[in-house]
Amino acid sequence: MKKIVLLCLVVFGIASCSEKVSKIPVYAWTGGPGEASDQELLDKFTDFKAKGIDGLMYNGGHDPKTYKRVGALVKEAGMEFHAWIPTMVQGENPKISKELYAWNRNGESAFEKPAYVNYYKFLCPSKEGTYTFLEELYKGVATVPEIDGIHLDYIRFPDVILAEGLWDKYGLVMDKEYPEYDYCYCDSCTGTFKDQTGIDIKALEDDAQQVQEWKQFRYDLITNMVGRLAEVVHAEGKEINAAVFPGPTIAKKLVRQEWNKWNLDAVYPMNYNDFYLKGPEWVGDVVQEEVSAVEGLKPVYSGLFICPNPQNKTQENDPENHGLLPSEIEIAIRTSMENGATGICLFTPERMKPAHWEAFEKAIYKDYFKQE
Ligand SMILES: [Zn+2]
Repeated sequence: MKKIVLLCLVVFGIASCSEKVSKIPVYAWTGGPGEASDQELLDKFTDFKAKGIDGLMYNGGHDPKTYKRVGALVKEAGMEFHAWIPTMVQGENPKISKELYAWNRNGESAFEKPAYVNYYKFLCPSKEGTYTFLEELYKGVATVPEIDGIHLDYIRFPDVILAEGLWDKYGLVMDKEYPEYDYCYCDSCTGTFKDQTGIDIKALEDDAQQVQEWKQFRYDLITNMVGRLAEVVHAEGKEINAAVFPGPTIAKKLVRQEWNKWNLDAVYPMNYNDFYLKGPEWVGDVVQEEVSAVEGLKPVYSGLFICPNPQNKTQENDPENHGLLPSEIEIAIRTSMENGATGICLFTPERMKPAHWEAFEKAIYKDYFKQE
């Protein structure tokens, strides 16, 4: 790249050159490998790279062997490779005692009675067994030479308030914190909180949601978990980053993520405008908050949610099928970059239609920081 720039400097002068060679950093969330052969995977990764993707956040389960095999092919295609592994959400697993799952304000276990959807089986971040399970999991994957980093996801509590775009889907109006979605009220969380503050949060019942110290206590539980996992991953010489909710104003309110305080190498906020009933310009507004929340000290990659069937978007009620149209993706990319994002991350390349890729290509080969 340096050579090309130098050549251009001589031949064309710097302005015309930087237009041609500049490209913004692009990541993508994807996963597998299912039954795909090595050649099929390599063809897919080579295609992603040719389209402008620089690195993958790859969801391949818990087995280090899968990351070794897939990682070698991602590297061969010339991309970075991060293992995307959910953190606090864990399905039934012989390595995880049922005692480790979180309890809601009604005293119900997230394992026995998960909120919203069956897979919402969240662990309690207070329990030491939760940490030791996660430590072993991430350490095992981080030792794989082909891995560049660990990408945390669901590193949070269940949504105590659901994004407004999802209220209709679940038939809810979430004007306050309701007990069945409010976690964790296990003896270990409430006992430690009482020891620290003298407040018996269980005795307050519905008024518990007004107690600021109780909110902060739970932000800190997640922040501490991230800090401990960061030490484990950094000790293996690898990066650690995370998919987070937007903000962190929204992230704190909905899922108790105070991610601006986390010890990470980068953050990937899921700036999924349709979930908040907002247009593509909102992505730039929230990126501005995100970049200033980390004081510009770490990279913010703006996560973009792509509409898989653009022609059906207006008829779809489920926001999972909404997302950026081909006509909106340029706005989301440009406003992200103009507000200080380091790059973007696509959810997902598989959802992109040819018209998306066309608009995407025009938007990524630009120098948004050029002083002219
Ligand atoms: Zn707990």
